[in-house]
Amino acid sequence: MATLELDSITKTFQDGDEEIVAVDDVSLSIDDGEFLVVVGPSGCGKSTTLRMVAGLETITAGTLSIDDRVVNHVKSQNRDIAMVFQSYALYPHMSVRQNMSFGLEESTDLPDDEINRMVGETGEMLGISPLLDRKPSDLSGGQQQRVALGRAIVRDPEVFLMDEPLSNLDAKLRAEMRTELQRLQNDLGVTTVYVTHDQTEAMTMGDRIAILDGGELQQVATPLECYHEPSNRFVASFLGEPSMNFFDVTLEGDRLVGDVFEYPIDEGIRSDLGDATDLVLGIRPEAVQLVDAAGDHEFETTVDVVEPMGDENTVYLHFDPDVEPENASTLVATIDGFNRVSEDDTVIARIPPDAIHLFDRSTGEALH
Ligand code: ATP
Repeated sequence: MATLELDSITKTFQDGDEEIVAVDDVSLSIDDGEFLVVVGPSGCGKSTTLRMVAGLETITAGTLSIDDRVVNHVKSQNRDIAMVFQSYALYPHMSVRQNMSFGLEESTDLPDDEINRMVGETGEMLGISPLLDRKPSDLSGGQQQRVALGRAIVRDPEVFLMDEPLSNLDAKLRAEMRTELQRLQNDLGVTTVYVTHDQTEAMTMGDRIAILDGGELQQVATPLECYHEPSNRFVASFLGEPSMNFFDVTLEGDRLVGDVFEYPIDEGIRSDLGDATDLVLGIRPEAVQLVDAAGDHEFETTVDVVEPMGDENTVYLHFDPDVEPENASTLVATIDGFNRVSEDDTVIARIPPDAIHLFDRSTGEALH
């Protein structure tokens, strides 16, 4: 088992005259046995980060350590890591058994019957024992993914690195494998770095998640901390579906003044804002409530669209009935599926003061 330390890691690529900063000064400590999910939009530097840890990409600047040993210049095969790719990367001409045993045969002096025993045990663990003599082309996508996992597990590495390993599976299988991978990682206790762009995987699988944007680390914390206490507007908008509502507001005395509403705040919130006056107010759709009476934090709105989801309805509200919906300021609310509202209804939406987020409008930094 191992700890993993990224200290001010940077990676630049040269594209003709242009320098691309793929990973920008990222520092991260991953604990022994931890499951860390690295998440972010396409091109944010997730794969490059993982590939540097794997030794498949050189590190431009910074220090990478595994168990306090600096490994910047240690070859990939000597880092005691095992990687699982989105593409599975199985050898097509080899059987499942050979795919799983190949790495051990290459890197250890273990006798054949010991390797066979280990492959057999790992096959059992993953429920692929009946497939050991088949070729990858005779397997379904889900079975190939298990073999790819098996190949990583059988090597008993210090660290697992996984790059979108579930993204070629259909939704149902993906959900099953999500749970199974978590269980396996838990049982094996191997330090794991798992890259994905899928926020459901990030929210459900990781002990902590590291959120990247534009090569820069935005936040690293438990999934719930990132969700409820986002460090900036990017993190707030990246996590959650439907996304958090945002409104530009200006602080005037003890009120936040927006285009369509004024929102009084108490001294507790006010004191978090420092000198900032140009702000963005954020509220998650599930925090918005439909209530009976208007007040300081309640606003009359008109229902524009209702999307029934069964147990929940997503309701698109707009503030000003005289403005065409496409030009109006929209508030998205997720409400109970039994709460029947219809298009064009007038409803009162409450934005609870204890659920609002406030961001500095120019830096995006979370202030409250
Ligand atoms: P995705 O989710 O789409 O796989 P990602 O977050 O994994 O994206 P990376 O593949 O790490 O992103 O790429 C980060 C940035 O570095 C991108 O702008 C990409 O175009 C650039 N990049 C990656 N590899 C190279 C390369 N070999 N040469 C030049 N630029 C590269």
